[in-house]
Amino acid sequence: MSGAASQGRGVVAIDVGGTRTRVAAGDGPVVRFPTEQDYDRQLARLRDAIPGTPSAVGVSFGGRVTAAGDVRVAMNLRGYEGRPLRRDLESTLDAPVRVAHDATCGLLGEHALGSLRGTDRCGYVTLSTGVGAALRLGAGGHFVAATTEAGHQLVAGNDRRCGCGQTGCLETLLGGAALGRHLGRALETVEDAGFWHAYARHLADGIANFALTAGLDAVAVGGAIAAQRAGLWPPLREALAERLTYQAVRVHRATLDEAPLAGARVLLDVPPSSILH
Ligand SMILES: [Zn+2]
Repeated sequence: MSGAASQGRGVVAIDVGGTRTRVAAGDGPVVRFPTEQDYDRQLARLRDAIPGTPSAVGVSFGGRVTAAGDVRVAMNLRGYEGRPLRRDLESTLDAPVRVAHDATCGLLGEHALGSLRGTDRCGYVTLSTGVGAALRLGAGGHFVAATTEAGHQLVAGNDRRCGCGQTGCLETLLGGAALGRHLGRALETVEDAGFWHAYARHLADGIANFALTAGLDAVAVGGAIAAQRAGLWPPLREALAERLTYQAVRVHRATLDEAPLAGARVLLDVPPSSILH
């Protein structure tokens, strides 16, 4: 991507996750703060974190939005649902704003600058407070990047109730918030090797189904859990090798530290018609 919109000094990228918010203004350092559950307080925090008037703002958001930038579903930010996020940010920041799901932004970042460069059929999975997935199909400038509900694919034999209302979602086996509720303690504090081995196998099932459904050649895995658990990769690769026979799928950790934040900037150069929210 080398469009003009993302290159200006006044460009701001924002990643609003279910737990943390990151703001990168121009070439300055990334500002981080806990995401406010209260929507209006979050708008005020963002205003305070951004110096001056930006030329353009790209936003990665931890939930589904409409093409107009209204929040449709945000499992971990329920107070944001139904709010016109793009329009509110435009009036708060006095700048043009683009918004997309954080999985889509992670995908755009990894494709433009990371491990998915040059791949025409690829996906991105984020393992964080929730589980998100997006895919990108197409070559050169002709492509579509679409958010998916692969994080809520149904897993046979799984009777856990998900925050979305369904029973058996993959998110109940992989998402930080859902596992924290199930285990009665924060996922970051769990060191049991057996737990993480089972986690890797559930992840392999989810990635295999996601890749096979869309015929993906490569999947990058990002998010805080992927970044902090280096031990996930050997059992994940082993489980994927058992599952996938004829369809070779390259699965690897996202190479960008903060792919959604990078992707929020890339988003500014992508035609709106190439993004399916
Ligand atoms: Zn669900």
